[in-house]
Amino acid sequence: MDKVGETTLVLDLSAMGHNYRYLRSKIAPNTKFLGVVKAFAYGSDMVAIAKKLETLGADYLAVAYVSEGGLLRNAGIKTPILVLHPLASNFEEMIDCCLEPSLYSQNILTQFLDAARAKKQVAYPVHIKFNTGLNRLGFREHDIGFIAEQFKAHDEVKVISVFSHLAASEDPNERMFSLGQIDTFKKCSSALAQKLGYAPLRHMLNTSGIINYASEAQFEMVRSGIGLYGYGNDALIDPNLRPVATLKTIISQIHEIGDGETVGYNRTFTSGSTTKTATLPIGHADGIGRQYGRGKASVLINGKEAPLIGNVCMDMIMVDVTGVDCKEGDEVLVFGPQRSAENFASGAGTISYEILTAISQRVKRVVIDR
Ligand SMILES: *Cc1c(COP(=O)(O)O)cnc(C)c1O
Repeated sequence: MDKVGETTLVLDLSAMGHNYRYLRSKIAPNTKFLGVVKAFAYGSDMVAIAKKLETLGADYLAVAYVSEGGLLRNAGIKTPILVLHPLASNFEEMIDCCLEPSLYSQNILTQFLDAARAKKQVAYPVHIKFNTGLNRLGFREHDIGFIAEQFKAHDEVKVISVFSHLAASEDPNERMFSLGQIDTFKKCSSALAQKLGYAPLRHMLNTSGIINYASEAQFEMVRSGIGLYGYGNDALIDPNLRPVATLKTIISQIHEIGDGETVGYNRTFTSGSTTKTATLPIGHADGIGRQYGRGKASVLINGKEAPLIGNVCMDMIMVDVTGVDCKEGDEVLVFGPQRSAENFASGAGTISYEILTAISQRVKRVVIDR
C-alpha cells in the first residue's frame, strides 16, 4: 500500500465487496440485504461506502439519524434508506429527503402520522420496531392493537417492514435468550401482519446474527454493519472477512530518554533505563482516546509492537520504540488487515465498533478500490 505522509485512514472498497459477498453467501439468494452506514459508515466515509453498496446491489441502507440520511441523498444515493432512530423534530426533512422512519413508540408513530398528513403523503413507507428484550427502542406486544388501528385509519403511511434487534447475537452463552427474542419477534410480526391484512418484510439479524442465527431468523431481510467493515464475532480477524479501514501515521520525532526522565503530560511514564521514544501526529482529537494511553494499546512500526507511553495528548501520542529499528518519517500502523482494530481496542477494554467510529473527521480519508 502506498506510503502516507500524514495520519490517514485508507479505505479499501474491494475488501468491502468481498465482505458483502461473504455475508450474502450466508443467507438465501432472495433474502434482502440492508447495509448499515450510520456514524459515517462506522467512522469511514459514508458516501463512498454507500455508493459502493449501491453498486454491489444492497437492497436497503440504514443510518441512525435524519441528518445522516440527508447527506446520502445530497450525494445522489437512490437506494431506500431506513432511519433507525428518527426524532420528531426532523420529520419534515425526513419526508423531503425520502427517508423511511423506524417507528418505535406510540408517541413517535402519532407524530409521524401528523407530519405525513401535513405533507399530504400517500402510503409513505415506514418500519415498525419491536422491543424483544434489548429494552432500548421499540413497541411491545401489547401495542399491536394500537399500531394496527393507526394504519387502518391512515392511508398516508404503509408498513414496509417489521423488525427487532438482538441483545447478544455474538454470545453463544446467550443463545437461549436470543432464541427467545426471535420467538417473541415471530409472534409480534405475525400478529401485526394479521391485523394489517398484509405481510411486511421482517428483519432481525445484525452481523453476528447472520453468522449465528441465519437458519433461525433470516426472515426476508438482514442488516449488517460491522461485518461489511471487516469485523465479526472475534478478537482475531475473522478469516472470512477483510478489514476495510487501515489507520496509518508516521514518526514525527525520535527521542532518547535518560534514566529517570518522564514522558508526556502529568509525567505518568518514567524511564527505567535509556528509552527510545517516537512521537506520532495522532491524538485524542483524532480518535485515539486517553484510555489507550499508559501502555493499554500499541502500534506497529516496521512489524514490531510499540506500546503507547504516558498520557494521550490532543494531537500526539508517544510510543516506546526501544529496540525497534525505525527512524523519523517511518510509517506506523495503528490498525488494518495486518492488525485488527478489535485487537487494538481490547487492550483498553473496548471493541472494534468504538475505535472505528471514533476516528475523527480531521483524519484524512483515502479511498481505494482495486
Ligand atoms: C447498528 C445496528 C445494526 C448493525 O449491527 P452490526 O453488529 O454492526 O452488524 C443493525 N441493526 C440495528 C438496529 C443497529 O442499530
